[in-house]
Formats: sequence, structure tokens, C-alpha cells
Amino acid sequence: MVAEKAAASSTENEQMDVLHSTRVVVKNALDKLGYPDEVYQLLKEPIRMLSVRIPVRMDDGSIKIFTGYRAQHNDAVGPTKGGVRFHPDVTEKEVKALSIWMSLKAGIVDLPYGGGKGGIICDPREMSFRELEGLSRGYVRAISQIVGPTKDIPAPDVFTNSQIMAWMMDEYSRIDEYNSPGFITGKPIVLGGSHGRESATAKGVTICINEAAKKKGIELKGARVIVQGFGNAGSFLSKFLHDAGAKVIAISDAYGAIHDPNGLDIDYLLDRRDSFGTVTNLFDTTISNKDMLELDCDILVPAAVENQITAENAPNIKAKIVVEAANGPTTMEGTKILTDRGILLVPDVMASAGGVTVSYFEWVQNNQGYYWSEAEIDEKLHEIMIKSFNTIYKTAQTRRIDMRLAAYMVGVRKMAEAARFRGWV
Ligand code: GLU
Repeated sequence: MVAEKAAASSTENEQMDVLHSTRVVVKNALDKLGYPDEVYQLLKEPIRMLSVRIPVRMDDGSIKIFTGYRAQHNDAVGPTKGGVRFHPDVTEKEVKALSIWMSLKAGIVDLPYGGGKGGIICDPREMSFRELEGLSRGYVRAISQIVGPTKDIPAPDVFTNSQIMAWMMDEYSRIDEYNSPGFITGKPIVLGGSHGRESATAKGVTICINEAAKKKGIELKGARVIVQGFGNAGSFLSKFLHDAGAKVIAISDAYGAIHDPNGLDIDYLLDRRDSFGTVTNLFDTTISNKDMLELDCDILVPAAVENQITAENAPNIKAKIVVEAANGPTTMEGTKILTDRGILLVPDVMASAGGVTVSYFEWVQNNQGYYWSEAEIDEKLHEIMIKSFNTIYKTAQTRRIDMRLAAYMVGVRKMAEAARFRGWV
């Protein structure tokens, strides 16, 4: 009995282990594509993983030592690329999984990159501007030997923004003794940032929602949408959907959710939210994130954190389309249940690839020193996202597999081929 219980909880833990579930799907994708096991052995783990300790002088005069990571999954295709998150729940395993997802995203939207990811264990909501600057600069000093415009290019992620990118770029430029805008993307426009980068993830998600709605015969105008998370992706997305005539009936932040079946006043919420996407604290009546996910709606967009749709709540999800704007919001079992129930699930590695796509445009503009208009960026992003969505949709249909496995197959192929041509496997 005790052993049985232990076994059950270990599978439960495995379900929540994002690195484990990523590896399972990568393995399935490689098997379906006919690659030998060596390719999986190469791709199941980042080629490089640096763990650093960063001392920062805090405002009260004390010194606090933070732990950070940078994972570089695979550089067979080109330099590695991916964000840096500042969050108390960052772990080495999570950063590794996130770096694999970045490789898959780059493969899906066909960028000349491999995947990378960084993270620092900290809570930026409790740190001053000055402390955050010290931490950002300290992190760059600690990882400077393995990053750079032709090696590994960081970007924003959870709780990091253009100001943090600016500090990091400045620190790297000092170390490099050159102005190096191409070291990092997601910068402010005046420092070589790209038009359209800030809203790029949300724009990419909106394009996927549009395409998915067409496949399901749902009219976006008037469709009832739930958006979990009101950070960079969630807030811009709510605005785009609201402007397109959809009814955003519920949104949430880390503390709770608000719901109005007639549609929320998105402009008011955007105006009142803080820079970490917190807004529900202004309301007396809130519901839990958990209850929100199960509300009646047409489209559900998890745009917050990992492991939100699981074996436990997937049977109760009412949406006809789930589009993952966050990284890893649905577990493997959750994916199976939603797919078996006929719900169209657009996976994270596809839906959230708009961010890295415009980051690529930013890097190209930095390298060539010539900048594009927002309209040009938009047009290029649209073309890439629509093409990638349809390739994955078609793969899923013809192979009779779920969209996640189809996306992994499309995403993994380029790096597997590149590694083969290089003679690595
Ligand atoms: N952090 C974002 C992601 O997870 C963007 C990465 C980038 O722009 O390089 O896709």
C-alpha cells in the first residue's frame, strides 16, 4: 500500500517535471522521424550549463548572494538564443527544459539559432531598481565568457524587461570594449531595440488564435476568451483580442482572477496593472486561478506559468481551443486528455514563438545597422507564424498525432540534421 502510494506520487512528480516530459516528447518526435538513439542522447541535455553565484550589495548595506544559470541546449544550427527569467521558483532543471523549448521554437519558425535560457533565483517584486541593476550587471559579468552576439544571445522572459536588457547590454559592452547591441534582444528602441518586440509574443499568439479559430469554425468577433496571466504576453494579448472584437471574460495574475461573462474592461485593467502584471488586488470579488480555468468559454490562453492544465482539471476545461502563450502550461497527461476530447491545443513552442522571431529581427537589424518599420516587422512576423502554424497543423492531421508532438517533430528536425551534417552524430 505504502509502496503503491509512493509509485503513484512519483508518476505525479514526473508529470510535473518539465524536463522529463520534454524529453519524452523529443524522443517520440525523433523516433517518428526515424533518427537513431544517438541523436536523442545528444539532444536530451544542454551541451553547456553554467551555474553562477552573484553577489549583490543590497540597499540596507548587506551583501546577498544570488544563484543564476545559463543553459545552452544546442548550437549545431547557430548561436543559442533565449530569455533570462528572474523568479523565486527558478531551478536548474527548469532552465534546462526551457533551453530545449527554445531550440524547438527556433526550429519551428526556422531561425538560424539553437536554444538557450537563463534564470536567476530571486523575487524582483521585492527588490529595488538599484538592486535589480546590480543583479543584472553581476549576472552578465558571471556568464560573459560563454555569451555574445555570435555565441549566445539573451532576451527578456518572466519578470525581466527592456530596462534589464539595457543594463545587461551596457555591462556586456563595457566588458567587450565595443558597443554590442547584438549581444541581447528586447532592448529599448533607443538602444537598438526593434519596433514590435515588446508585443511580439502576444501578436504571435493572436495569429495562432486566429488560425486555430478558422480551423474550428469559430468567429473571433464575439468569442469568449479567458487569459491566465497579465504580464507581457497576457496583457498585450487581452488588448489585441479585445480590439479584434473578442470578449475577454476573465483574466488573472499570481494572486487571483476576475470574471465578467459580459466581458471585462481591458483598457481599464491595462491602465491599472503594475509592471509585474498585478491587477486583481484592486477588486473585492475574485476567484481562484484554478476555478477560472474551468469557466465556460470558447478560447483559453494560459499565459502565466508551468503545469496549469493537468490530468486533474483537463476533463473540466470547457474551451474548444487552448493556445499556450506560457512555456509549459499543460502536462503530458493534460495534453492527452484535451486532445482526446477534441479540443484543439496549440502548443507553447509554436504559439509563443513570436517573441523569439522578432528578437531575431532585432539581432539582424543590430548586425546590419539598418532598422525596419513596425509595419515591416508585422508583415514578416505574420508570414512566418501563419506558415509555421499550418505546417504543424497539417503534420498533426496527416500523422494523426497531437499538435505538440507535431510541433516537436517540425522543431527538432533542423537541429538533428545540422548535427548530422557537422558529423556530431
Ligand atoms: N523569453 C522568450 C521565449 O521564451 C523570448 C526569447 C527571445 O526573444 O530570445 O520565447
